[in-house]
Amino acid sequence: MSAFNIKKIREDFPNLYIKVRGKSLVYLDNAATTLKPKSVIEVTQKHYSEGNSNVHRGVHFLSEQATADYEQSRQKVKELLNAHSAHEIIFTRGTTESINLVAQSFGRAFFNKGDEIVISHMEHHSNIVPWQILCEQTGCALKVIPINDQGELIWEEFLKLLGPKTRLVSIVHISNSLGTINPIEDIIHEAHKRNIPVLIDGAQSVSNTAIDVQKLDCDFLAFSGHKLFGPTGIGVLYGKEKWLEKMPPYQGGGDMIASVTFPKTTYNHLPYKFEAGTPNIAGVIGLGTAVDYVRSIGFEPINDHKKELLEYGTRQLQTIPGLRLIGTAQHKSSILSFVLSDIHPHDLGTIVDQEGVAIRTGHHCTQPVMQRFNVPATARASLAHYNTKEEIDALVKALLKVKEIFK
Ligand code: PMP
Repeated sequence: MSAFNIKKIREDFPNLYIKVRGKSLVYLDNAATTLKPKSVIEVTQKHYSEGNSNVHRGVHFLSEQATADYEQSRQKVKELLNAHSAHEIIFTRGTTESINLVAQSFGRAFFNKGDEIVISHMEHHSNIVPWQILCEQTGCALKVIPINDQGELIWEEFLKLLGPKTRLVSIVHISNSLGTINPIEDIIHEAHKRNIPVLIDGAQSVSNTAIDVQKLDCDFLAFSGHKLFGPTGIGVLYGKEKWLEKMPPYQGGGDMIASVTFPKTTYNHLPYKFEAGTPNIAGVIGLGTAVDYVRSIGFEPINDHKKELLEYGTRQLQTIPGLRLIGTAQHKSSILSFVLSDIHPHDLGTIVDQEGVAIRTGHHCTQPVMQRFNVPATARASLAHYNTKEEIDALVKALLKVKEIFK
């Protein structure tokens, strides 16, 4: 296998060593959420056991310490994304909240009736529904880039959708249900040629790829900590300062204000203008440690290993009679969605679970993708750098058992 020491990598993840239904867990549901390394678990626990305090408020020791740790995490995320300034890093609950923030602040302030928002057919519901809500509120229209049978964007159709009324392109980098890696550099280039800003849904890509937001020149990028080996309930919105400065607050409350009187309130400066209320302090600190974790390993070895697993997994799954892969894009991440004969994916998932193999079955919050491929649901194995070929073999063995039962 690849250069890094897989045994040592796995030892960092205690969750890999649990038993499920009497069997060793085979965790292949990383697109839903990744497991957490010891360092993240420990730092989160340490915050609550030794460092518990609110941030940005007290002058006492613990509060100053928590504030410093909180802000250090912002700095770590800034460095991970190579953002121009830490002010461009807003902590949110996750990708979903980040996209809702842009829709309700940027969209509501600057889009008008008849304006258009371009998304694609492979978006997660969290990059569809916030725009539909905005369309209802403002009279904007949603335009959808179609996808081909491999699950790739149809480029000519994308270009046709970019017009004088387009106010934003909001697009997923890596599809969670197909694995497709979209050509975001080219998408941003084409949109910017027409002065259209671009939001990237990086939920599945930030753990995969070194994303340089300055080089990419995206206007917004959303991601979730829990898919980057960090805690749940914490995520990030990166936004160019020039937009964030112009955008009105998303929520009102403590911390996001400079001064409050009954006739008038003035708002805090960036990034606090968008962080109303007591934040998820332990989550932010855990996310910072998760960033340290991925950077200590490096994206290249992570990717090399996952690429090898994807190739192996694709080959092995295709040996199973009646298995159809959904999502066969040329540029693909380590996500294997499939259907098996006419067995319902939920039945399949239940049987596979009896063998200790955790995969996801359902529509993966991408119902339009299911409609496009004319399937009610898929089974999805999604791989992380701590997975092994032996675990893929365990999945294949479990699937053969499913075939046997439904013979
Ligand atoms: N976009 C994509 C591509 C995703 O995979 C997910 C999570 N499955 C989301 C958005 C939403 O992320 P979250 O639920 O963490 O907000």
